[in-house]
Amino acid sequence: MKDIGLILGIRPDVIRASKVIKLLSESSDIDFDFIWSGQHYSENMKDVFFKQLNVPTPDYEFDIDTTNDATTVSSIIKETYSHLENHKYKAIMFLGDTNTVMGSIGVAQHNIPIIHIEGCMRSYDWRMPEEKYRKTIDHLSDRIYAYLDSYKKQGLNEGISENIIKVTGNPIVDILEEFSELFSSGEEYLDRNVKKFINDNPFVLVTSHRRENILNKNSLKNIVDLINSSNKKILFPMGYATQRQIKEFGLILNKNVMVIDPIGYLEFIYLLKNSQYCISDSGTVVEEACILNIPSIQMRYSTERPEVYEVGASIKFDPTLEGQKFEDIHLRADSLNSRKWTHPFGDGKSSKLIVEDLIDLSKKNIFHMHNKEDYDFDISRSFLQ
Ligand code: UDP
Repeated sequence: MKDIGLILGIRPDVIRASKVIKLLSESSDIDFDFIWSGQHYSENMKDVFFKQLNVPTPDYEFDIDTTNDATTVSSIIKETYSHLENHKYKAIMFLGDTNTVMGSIGVAQHNIPIIHIEGCMRSYDWRMPEEKYRKTIDHLSDRIYAYLDSYKKQGLNEGISENIIKVTGNPIVDILEEFSELFSSGEEYLDRNVKKFINDNPFVLVTSHRRENILNKNSLKNIVDLINSSNKKILFPMGYATQRQIKEFGLILNKNVMVIDPIGYLEFIYLLKNSQYCISDSGTVVEEACILNIPSIQMRYSTERPEVYEVGASIKFDPTLEGQKFEDIHLRADSLNSRKWTHPFGDGKSSKLIVEDLIDLSKKNIFHMHNKEDYDFDISRSFLQ
């Protein structure tokens, strides 16, 4: 029996967990398998991150049907369940709030302990599938790594046992610190046309991929109008789903906007560090911008990361609202450029803390960490009485 199986499946998972994966692979105190769910599969959404961040490639890769969210989730549950019939682990670990974390249902069916990195984040917006996923996996989990005390408090408010939540800080800080020297070499990976486009001019970096933004015509139109209302150079590494939706809705970006396919991490962070500000609906990009002291416009009607507003690093843009003054939003982001803030995401030791805790729990053989009373069957709480 191995100690831990880690199941990940999308681009930001590899980035955020890269140090956890390396520490687990290198440790002689813990036996570990890395499993790829197959949610992201192309070279520039997956393999490039393994290469650039020097992450060991997965021990197993699921073969799943990514036709839509339902086929993705159901095939991840099925693959996870089958994998666990043939491979034994003391616990299975997931990260975040994606379709991949719903594989935890297949783990729960085997009654194997579940570990959740990025636990207890909440947007309190029940319209987001991610909020439903987060809540589900947190309430299935036996060990939760929460990044901040405030997230732990959110878990406690939902009745999650205090002794299963450990506050670790956010591992994205570890990654930005660890690779800080390599980011300057990110320029080398940029296409010649991109370098020519930027050519030492001030520019704005954009990403957008969230379902609620790109699948709704009005929201995506507002996003395009926001971008088109700036006359700065704008570089937009655009995910494939967003490219499809822009085309389908017949939306046109101005000539000062350069659209490219998604790019690798070193060049993306190189660009982010050199941008005036970024415009993004990505959870990770707004954290990275906040840590690197780059202002952001966060394109979300609700967020599980309110800290970026609280420290004054980000301006809110709600794509669902009509009649907004787009120019004002750019002006406000510009005005943050001269500001400094202290990011709230931790001290860069999060991955180490997580791995030390996993080794400790594995040695003690206690991945089921709930209070005994959580397990005792209480007839008065049952609908069957
Ligand atoms: N990123 C990247 N190349 C790109 C766009 C983003 O390497 O072309 C990185 C970015 O720095 C961040 C992560 O990918 O670390 C964000 O991924 P995404 O926006 O897909 O996911 P989310 O954070 O919203 O879950």
